[in-house]
Amino acid sequence: MSTPSLLILAGDGIGPEVMIEVRKIIGWFGANRGLKFDVTEDLVGGAAYDKHGTPLTDETMAKAQSVDAVLLGAVGGPKYDKLDFSVKPERGLLRLRKEMDLFANLRPAQCFDALADFSSLKKDVVAGLDIMIIRELTSGVYFGEPRGIFKEGNERVGINTQRYTESEIARVARSAFEMARRRNNKVCSMEKANVMESGILWRDVVQEVHDAEYPDVELSHMYADAGAMQLTRWPKQFDVIVTDNLFGDLLSDLAAMLTGSLGMLPSASLGLPMANGRPKALYEPVHGSAPDIAGQGKANPCACILSFAMALRYSFDQGDEATRLEKAVENVLADGIRTADLMQSKDGTPATTTEMGDAVIRALDASL
Ligand code: NAD
Repeated sequence: MSTPSLLILAGDGIGPEVMIEVRKIIGWFGANRGLKFDVTEDLVGGAAYDKHGTPLTDETMAKAQSVDAVLLGAVGGPKYDKLDFSVKPERGLLRLRKEMDLFANLRPAQCFDALADFSSLKKDVVAGLDIMIIRELTSGVYFGEPRGIFKEGNERVGINTQRYTESEIARVARSAFEMARRRNNKVCSMEKANVMESGILWRDVVQEVHDAEYPDVELSHMYADAGAMQLTRWPKQFDVIVTDNLFGDLLSDLAAMLTGSLGMLPSASLGLPMANGRPKALYEPVHGSAPDIAGQGKANPCACILSFAMALRYSFDQGDEATRLEKAVENVLADGIRTADLMQSKDGTPATTTEMGDAVIRALDASL
């Protein structure tokens, strides 16, 4: 097989800082595990706007469409706040997601034992937590028509439309069932079938796809509000959760925060398989460009490093190597090496971004 290709879009703020550490990790896998990648880099967000006057050029978009996976840092920053909406840094990211048709957003909520104290929940509720939320990302109320603010008599009315077709539901349901088969074989689908027709259709289609194609996977249904309660009460009851764009937006943030810091959270957005069988894919940390700490060597690179681990698992079929990298991060944390975001105020001197990346490399060396 030809060398797999990776497009790196480091972006703005702490994006380029954390991406330097990921480049080291990619180099390590090439040198030590025979996993070579054909890596190209390009601009996105404010960095692309500064150079080209647009947050994503057509050339970069075409590259993103042609590679095996895209790895993105973060976009945005106060410098760009006053720009017209059409050229804001975030538009670059939205264009990537839309044109690559990345309909399945994977948000793991995994609690490393060493960080269990960081959760706002009790330690025994979150220690060892490992769940995956799959949020539908390209349809639903954020995209449905009609939308807008209209005049109705003497007052204005704001309208958004929740709209899902059967095929949009079916494809994200398949992503969830496939994911469950790689994990603990359980899917919980969440909607509001009690008050929304789109929720009734969602429940029906998920059940139909299950019965026809994935009868071996355990499927349950839950109303999304009850799901939010259960996620805070006893999150370990879940394995894979699949839900729509709006509920997924809320539930994935809620679940992620069960585990502690924004600096630890990876994500993947996947589309349909390409000709080579790999899904269209974009991997990125959940955090933004963190302008308050950019350029100071304070950023935690783990979220971006763990996003690369997701790429190893979901784009390159290297589950064992992904686990090796996740374990390396876990061991670094267990050794007490922490960036500032993972420390209590009197915990001593925090590691810099570079020191954290180097510690992960040492832990990888130790895994050989
Ligand atoms: P943010 O995620 O950038 O930062 C929130 C807080 O978390 C800040 O205090 C920051 O210092 C901290 N933080 C974030 N990542 C960290 C890391 N890796 N290590 C240590 N601390 C970390 O969110 P924000 O401040 O609301 O947004 C800043 C900019 O980022 C805005 O322009 C926003 O639009 C953009 N943004 C981009 C993305 C993306 O690129 N996907 C996501 C969210 C926000």
